[in-house]
Amino acid sequence: AAKDMGGQGFRHFAPDMTTRAANSLQIEGRLRQALENNEFSLMFQPIVRPGSPDVLIVETLLRWKNDQNEIVTPDQFIPVAEESGLILDIGRWVLHAACRQASHWRQTRATPIVVSVNASPLQLANPKFCDDVQAAMEAAGLPPALLAIEMTERMMVAEDAIISANICRLTQMGVRVALDDFGTGYSSLSYLTRYQIQCIKIDRSFIDKIECDLQARALVQAIIGIGKSLNVVMVAEGVETQGQAALLESLGCDYLQGYLIGRPVVAEAL
Ligand code: C2E
Ligand code: MG
Ligand code: MG
Ligand code: MG
Repeated sequence: AAKDMGGQGFRHFAPDMTTRAANSLQIEGRLRQALENNEFSLMFQPIVRPGSPDVLIVETLLRWKNDQNEIVTPDQFIPVAEESGLILDIGRWVLHAACRQASHWRQTRATPIVVSVNASPLQLANPKFCDDVQAAMEAAGLPPALLAIEMTERMMVAEDAIISANICRLTQMGVRVALDDFGTGYSSLSYLTRYQIQCIKIDRSFIDKIECDLQARALVQAIIGIGKSLNVVMVAEGVETQGQAALLESLGCDYLQGYLIGRPVVAEAL
């Protein structure tokens, strides 16, 4: 991505680009195979209300177990999947797998669990995205109230009107939309006025620092305040310590997610 090319990398521009392009091509080919060979799987991480241990929301996190039986995390292959457009097929697989799991939990658990699925900006910019979501819910027999979609602005996409229409339609369908990694993008605040967002996930990089950095704490407090005044549900990502959890609860954060509450696990372990 363009932002990776600044500073250091610039001096080695040409060789870097060649290696990276070759690498991407290789990964792209393997990703295609991975879809055919069923090498993808989902991990699940709980999102809870402070002070209440019940699992209410579960985020799905994609994993790829390659032919060498190594687990590859999304940061290593999502960018390539986005560059190549394969993310649309992979994303569709994720939607179907997530809805199936959510439907299974609905049938086997006493309390409802909302499953929250990450979607690439490229998926949200696809005019057929809501049809994909609808098809996945129907195939699994899942009510829309048990599904949420997480979007980021990690990537600049031009299709603003389509994204906006998709979010509108998701909301009409009864699927909730969350803004992921809030605070790290170019225009986090303007997203809030442009799109109908029901939930904000404050990025881990802010939560990291709230115990020792007063400015970070003030910023998180302000973000929670903005969310409250817009009637948006606030989630803190990357909560790792009791101190962070206590602070976030005192600041009025609605939900917590992070290693303190639980690491991503396979469905059966949740
Ligand atoms: P994300 O959606 O912000 O997900 C949270 C990431 O933070 C996950 O990394 C999770 O394992 C990690 N995490 C959770 N709690 C903690 C904590 O307390 N401390 C630390 N240090 N990390 C924590 P993961 O699973 O590697 O996923 C990375 C990113 O890849 C995700 O960030 C999301 O943007 C993307 N991603 C994951 N699954 C999918 C998918 O199915 N589709 C798309 N398009 N993107 C996905
Ligand atoms: Mg997410
Ligand atoms: Mg996030
Ligand atoms: Mg993140």
